Amino acid sequence: MTKLSVDIAIVGAGPAGTSTAIAAAKKGVNTLILERKTNPGIPVQCGEAIGKTGPGIAEIGIPENCIINPIRGFRVYSPSGIAVDFAKDEIDGYIIDRRVFDKELLVEAVEAGSEVLVGTNVVDLKYKEGTVSHLIAKKMGEKIEINAKVVVGADGVNSIVAKKTGLRKNIKAIDLDTSVGYEMINVEVDDLELMEFYTGQNIAPRGYVWIFPKGENRANVGIGVGMQDKFASKTAYEYLNDFIKNHPIGSKKCAKGKIIEIRIGAIPLGGPNKKNIADGVILVGDAAGQVHPITGGGMGYSIVCGSIAGNVAADCINEGDVSEKKIAAYEEQWRERYGYEFRQALKLRKALEKASDKQLDELAKILTGELLVGISSGEKISKKKIAKIIIKRPGLWKLLGDYLLA
Ligand SMILES: Cc1cc2nc3c(=O)[nH]c(=O)nc-3n(C[C@H](O)[C@H](O)[C@H](O)COP(=O)(O)OP(=O)(O)OC[C@H]3O[C@@H](n4cnc5c(N)ncnc54)[C@H](O)[C@@H]3O)c2cc1C
Repeated sequence: MTKLSVDIAIVGAGPAGTSTAIAAAKKGVNTLILERKTNPGIPVQCGEAIGKTGPGIAEIGIPENCIINPIRGFRVYSPSGIAVDFAKDEIDGYIIDRRVFDKELLVEAVEAGSEVLVGTNVVDLKYKEGTVSHLIAKKMGEKIEINAKVVVGADGVNSIVAKKTGLRKNIKAIDLDTSVGYEMINVEVDDLELMEFYTGQNIAPRGYVWIFPKGENRANVGIGVGMQDKFASKTAYEYLNDFIKNHPIGSKKCAKGKIIEIRIGAIPLGGPNKKNIADGVILVGDAAGQVHPITGGGMGYSIVCGSIAGNVAADCINEGDVSEKKIAAYEEQWRERYGYEFRQALKLRKALEKASDKQLDELAKILTGELLVGISSGEKISKKKIAKIIIKRPGLWKLLGDYLLA
């Protein structure tokens, strides 16, 4: 058995783990990433859309070589096909190549001084006197014991670190969307600079179908839906195929489409865990529930929160105190930044879950793209503006009144 001793052991080389490593390694602490995949970033489990100004990605910068298509905004279709558009004058995001993106962030982490072990599955985490004494990993059959002052769980939606530390025992099925996506060729793309979202109880219950353009005739077409039996009457896969075959707008765009890749995964939409820290432990990214409860977007949040985690962990190590009390700076900083937005989006999503198709159509007639962006992030001016309009419509007021007044 190999024994290793490091300052920070990061489980997972997704965007959360690599951005934690970049920040920590830049502060000179001894950092190790453990990634079970032999080829990080593959298979892709993502729609590959990332906002430039959204969750603060502009601070980090997106590696040029992973940008496939620049985006200026979006178009949301209501169940009967009413479109709500939002577009900025300048580029506001990108459709990226996720396999290149994850790899580039890993390269950056290693160049900053982090070590990495790929093909290394963390299988256990042992406690001693209230703190993690060591991790146990397996690399191609070889057992490795890792001692670390701080363990960072950046190991995604099924995080072993979250489970073993008790910070998130088991994620509830109701808090997960199942997601299936295709990369398709020969899709008719209306506007290369707009992402499209399709809503409706029979189209994607508690979620949406997306068409994210990657080129003139190339797009990611995918879906996220809520738990079967409670929200959905069939699988995400069946809903997506139904959309491609039968949706009045979608079926025309996808009529000649050929699937060249299938992506499957689960998205934690129930908001952040109550607590993401313990003595010598930090959770970040999907493991922490840092995903927007309406859009399901998590890459940008993972990167910003990962940077905060890496900086705080390094400071704690350099100051010789990795207690929960000291590590709490991470929890405070990321919640200060996104806590309100996540809480608001979760409330809005819960209200919208109950909306009938007729109500979604009615909303589409009222909303502008700006107002939609505003209320999804809990912006008070947008909430007030919409409240003024829908107070005269009892059905919509019953649905959204509490959220808009809160
Ligand atoms: C189908 C789908 C589409 C999506 N589309 C978008 C989108 O368009 N835009 C967006 O912003 N977000 C999207 N998301 C969400 C986004 O992919 C995640 O929020 C983001 O990847 C979270 O990053 P992360 O680093 O926390 O986790 P992950 O990217 O999941 O990385 C976790 C890493 O940990 C590794 N790991 C797990 N367990 C262990 C272990 N025991 N030992 C060692 N390594 C381990 C995994 O192999 C993985 O590499 C989508 C998700 C899905 C499923």
